[in-house]
Order: sequence, then structure tokens, then C-alpha cells
Amino acid sequence: MKSLRERIIDLLVENDGLTAKEICNLLDLEPNRIKEVYSNIEKIAKIVKKKGLELLVVYPRCKNCGFEFSKIKASRCPKCKSERIEDARFTIR
Ligand SMILES: [Zn+2]
Repeated sequence: MKSLRERIIDLLVENDGLTAKEICNLLDLEPNRIKEVYSNIEKIAKIVKKKGLELLVVYPRCKNCGFEFSKIKASRCPKCKSERIEDARFTIR
């Protein structure tokens, strides 16, 4: 049985631009495990580097004012306080 982290890596190699939510759905995880998905993704960047791969991140963006976050997990815009956030997208190449 593969670890959750290995399963996330496999998914991101096979699919471009997945969000953490989509990863949860594809792996059939309970929605509350999304935190676990995010914390794994943070570690994945280092792991795939050793394999000669790279984790590409499209950072979250506020749908209201266009503010771009510099962290992968965001729920509220610091600029306009909107909670309409476009989730980060991940790809491994
Ligand atoms: Zn905003």
C-alpha cells in the first residue's frame, strides 16, 4: 500500500494543475483531510527534487481584487477581505 504522500505525487505527475480539493476527491479522502493534503504538498516539493522533478505551483488568487498569495493555502484575502479565493494548483514535471 502506498502512502498518502506517494499517492499525491502519482496524481500530480499524471494530472496537470490539480487543487488540493480535487486531490481529495480523486483519492477519495474525507474533506477534512484537506489539511493533510496541504502539509504533504509542502514536503513533496523537496522529495520530487531528489528525483529530478519539480513541483510547479500556481499560487492562490483573490477572485475579487486579484491579490496573489505567496503561500499555498489561503481562505481570506488580506487586501479586500473577500473569501472568494481561487485555490492553488499543483503540477509535478
Ligand atoms: Zn481580494
